[in-house]
Amino acid sequence: MKEELHFNTATIHGGQSPDKAYGAVMPPIYQTSTYAQKSPGKHKGFEYSRTHNPTREALEKSLASIESGNFAFAFGSGLAAMDAVLKTLKPGDEIISTDDLYGGSYRLFTKIFKDFGLKFHFVSMHDTKNISNVLNDKTRLIWIETPTNPMMNIIDIKSVVDLVKGKDILVAVDNTFASSYIQQPLKIGADIVMHSATKYLAGHSDVILGALIVNDKNLAERLKFIQNASGAVCGPMDSFLTLRGIKTLHVRMQRHCENTAQIANFLKESTKIEKVYWPGFKFHPNHNIARSQMKDFGGMLSFVTKGADYKSAIKIVEKLKIFTLAESLGGVESLAGHPASMTHASIPKQIREKSGVVDALIRLSVGIEHVDDLITDLKQAIG
Ligand SMILES: *Cc1c(COP(=O)(O)O)cnc(C)c1O
Repeated sequence: MKEELHFNTATIHGGQSPDKAYGAVMPPIYQTSTYAQKSPGKHKGFEYSRTHNPTREALEKSLASIESGNFAFAFGSGLAAMDAVLKTLKPGDEIISTDDLYGGSYRLFTKIFKDFGLKFHFVSMHDTKNISNVLNDKTRLIWIETPTNPMMNIIDIKSVVDLVKGKDILVAVDNTFASSYIQQPLKIGADIVMHSATKYLAGHSDVILGALIVNDKNLAERLKFIQNASGAVCGPMDSFLTLRGIKTLHVRMQRHCENTAQIANFLKESTKIEKVYWPGFKFHPNHNIARSQMKDFGGMLSFVTKGADYKSAIKIVEKLKIFTLAESLGGVESLAGHPASMTHASIPKQIREKSGVVDALIRLSVGIEHVDDLITDLKQAIG
């Protein structure tokens, strides 16, 4: 049964109860591969940790609660979670996704699953019409990422859900960038929510972990089967760290969003800046959709400085002192990235530039430090 808690309570208590053995308030790290049986098949509900682990189960219940879903599954990484979704499909099935997808997702689709007979279409999803153009009777999955990485395009989840209503097509949303605090796709009618919990959910840049949350029982059973049969599960220590991270998700996200709004406005006013991509601007092409499906505008933004090229963009990210130059996002510390050479290097230049990922683009994951220090750092790096 779904608990109807406010989000800020669900992050702390959702699906959680003190440990049955000793009443530990935080679920213990059950660092065990196997469980004693009294007689074959007679046990306390746990047989082998690929199939079940009490710490992972505590995390999965928390994940279901914060996304208002019935079932959740935790994996060894975000990509392992996506891998499980794709394994529900069969050769000949078609998938429609966005053309400015996370680089690792694009690589998984085109370098692995394409060879197993799945067909992928990449379209600009900020206009739902582009999806209709490639939709056909072989389409089985629509893979949405919103806001997109790193261009901060917003995809209208509800209009995609309405487009395929009544058809045998799953709508999956990669909710990594928004986090469950800002956006809850199952409530808008999506079938699957995926997270790289590595980012905002765990929130401290100390763990790699992925998650899937669904409502439908048959889909849940299939995913549970794949999770166990393929075995890309996360360990108990990582489950514990992610569960601990989720407990402060709402307060972290509030600060991420506040700081990002201030930095976006600072950059917009700067004479050195050519373009800022952030869905909170009224002039953002899908600002109104962002307002309707998101609680706030998130902790990510991208920008291009005037007259910058590959070299000068790299100089700027090298000069930053508080922002650390690193892959990833969503941790308490601010990070800067150069998508063309880092996260999006696996996407061919022609394809990535068509969607706006030019050589001069810089992406920021704004942390929860004092915003004045972050702005001072950006000022000195931009020059
Ligand atoms: C990081 C990321 C992933 C992949 O997750 P891992 O935990 O690194 O496997 C997928 N989608 C988005 C949007 C991401 O940022």
